[in-house]
Amino acid sequence: MSLRQLHLLGSPVLRQRAHEVAGVDDGVRALVADLFETMRAANGVGLASNQIGVARRVAIVSVQDQGEHVLVNPVILETDGRQVGEEGCLSIPEIFADVDRAERVVVEALDESGARRRIEASGMLARAIQHEIDHLDGILFLDRVGPLKRRRLLADWKKSRKGEDGYLKDVVPEDSAKLG
Ligand SMILES: [Zn+2]
Repeated sequence: MSLRQLHLLGSPVLRQRAHEVAGVDDGVRALVADLFETMRAANGVGLASNQIGVARRVAIVSVQDQGEHVLVNPVILETDGRQVGEEGCLSIPEIFADVDRAERVVVEALDESGARRRIEASGMLARAIQHEIDHLDGILFLDRVGPLKRRRLLADWKKSRKGEDGYLKDVVPEDSAKLG
């Protein structure tokens, strides 16, 4: 298990559609362990493999009082209702915006043992699951806000980088963010 570097906005892997996993093997379990270690160190509530540079359909979510879930090859079967709430992303630190999501989702995925699980989620957990599955499809929460708002957020992002280049960030446990 190891702490991985985070890929930040601008890294091409964040825009890739991640590949299905053929089977849950030790390699997938090691990836899941790295996702958990990195997410916890960064105080996230979810993390997708793209964010640590791996384009495979493996993500995790961890929402207080709603449990931890491993999502291998997740598929959304049902969505219901609507919620609007603030999101952030470990790949776009310090940038937050209100995002429209389904209030409730039913998702089917494999867990780290390879068992097929059906997860019914609402509220924050449903939001986190939708955010992470978006990552696996190369979609970022900034894509889900209006064009004017997005332009402003991107300007804030550029300013916050203070001329830094490169798309990799070491995780230090003081970091925090609202969403993976
Ligand atoms: Zn994210």
